[in-house]
Amino acid sequence: MHSPWDYPDFDDHEIVHFVTDRASGLRAVICVHSTHLGPGAGGVRFWHYAESGEAVRDALRLSRGMSFKNAMAGLPLGGGKAVILADEARAKTSELLAAYGRAVEALGGQYVTAEDVGVTVPDLVAVSKETRYVSGLPVEDGAVGGDPGPHTSYGVFLGVRAAARRKLGKESLAGLHIAIQGAGSVAGGLARLAAKDGARISIADIDAGRARKVADEVGGTVVAADEIMTIEADILSPNALGAILTEESIAALNVPVVAGGANNQLATPADGDRIHQRGILYAPDYVINAGGIINVSTEYLRDGDQATVNGRIEQIPGRLDAIWAESDATGRNPAAVADAMAYKLIGRG
Ligand code: NAD
Repeated sequence: MHSPWDYPDFDDHEIVHFVTDRASGLRAVICVHSTHLGPGAGGVRFWHYAESGEAVRDALRLSRGMSFKNAMAGLPLGGGKAVILADEARAKTSELLAAYGRAVEALGGQYVTAEDVGVTVPDLVAVSKETRYVSGLPVEDGAVGGDPGPHTSYGVFLGVRAAARRKLGKESLAGLHIAIQGAGSVAGGLARLAAKDGARISIADIDAGRARKVADEVGGTVVAADEIMTIEADILSPNALGAILTEESIAALNVPVVAGGANNQLATPADGDRIHQRGILYAPDYVINAGGIINVSTEYLRDGDQATVNGRIEQIPGRLDAIWAESDATGRNPAAVADAMAYKLIGRG
């Protein structure tokens, strides 16, 4: 038997809060990795796990990831994440969401919840009836908040440009060929911004209709989902799934740059070394994709308007440059450099 302390992703979590509500059937785990910089902020996932230990491992891994992301985005927030265990007998009822909201409230603001996989904005509205510690609620036109996707796309676009400058010596994306994996919210926004900047777009999605729609909009080309990771291009931008950079896929890459918004792109830390050893410039995912959390944070803390949000997102290229410069100076891969910087920022250097 292993306790959560023994899990590889435990990493000195400050709080692991197990929640059970018999009346609604709620079973959840709320993890707060660090509150060094502020309340642990991160979304809640509603997911069916084959085994409950998997849910705990997922929450721990994601919560630590939020510590890193929030720290590297320069936000006054720590890292946390929650998982609600779904199964055939547990539907996402209003009673269950209310019980989850009470559990968040009981932590007194040490954890701030938001949207993640399986949780919608209306779900958060239900949660907000029981707790103040929630962000990503509907906002009026022009107000800061709402869908983080376009803000993530903007940050990824700026990060892709920074990578093009560093590796390819280009001041814009004009004439560059960008291969985009995914054609959803983040990928679609990136494709539009990159095309406007003069890039040529190839795009793939397992939903071919989605890829076609974005390609038509930006004058790009649809590529089969199983080909996008190997096509020859100037930049590969993964914006769909995690764990797509493996020993095998890295060996088959045909690009000098990988820079995209998908979370947890490296299957293992060793893959950070592998991509580096191939001489491919990699943009650490949680640094380049922080635009969404920057927007969520500004909504929650009410510490700025849309121009403030954009100004904060526009700092992403500078952070990437600092990571790449340190990587050049030390020979360590950019993902490892980013992790070390993040640990220092959360007081665990
Ligand atoms: P989304 O659901 O809108 O789009 C994801 C797309 O990927 C879908 O169209 C899906 O069909 C496609 N896809 C799934 N598997 C694929 C595969 N094997 N090959 C090609 N396409 C595939 O999601 P999103 O909000 O655009 O998020 C995309 C990624 O960015 C995720 O990894 C997410 O965690 C990350 N991210 C999103 C945000 C945000 O603000 N939305 C913020 C940070 C990180």
